[in-house]
Amino acid sequence: MDSQGRSDGPRSRRYGSSDDDRRGGRRGYGPPAARRKCAFCANKNLELDYKKVDMLHNYTTERGKIGTRRHSGLCARHQRDVALAIKRARHLALLPYTAEHVRKV
Ligand SMILES: [Zn+2]
Repeated sequence: MDSQGRSDGPRSRRYGSSDDDRRGGRRGYGPPAARRKCAFCANKNLELDYKKVDMLHNYTTERGKIGTRRHSGLCARHQRDVALAIKRARHLALLPYTAEHVRKV
């Protein structure tokens, strides 16, 4: 009686040389669809001010850090202005340097 268990466990398939290793990243080159213009360049009436905390808040991350240009979509000049305004606001304690939930006692 040869009742031996079947020994054909999961076979490890061998993959050929597929050069399909690069994942992630955008497809193709060039700027995506429509290039958004910097909010301050687009709207001249929009004034940047360190007292406008509500507005500056949009340019900080959740942790209170100043967002990157990617984040804000601003041009170099206005990103600089925003950063400066945020720093002023921080100095006057209008904006936090760090998020409260990050701060450890
Ligand atoms: Zn701009």
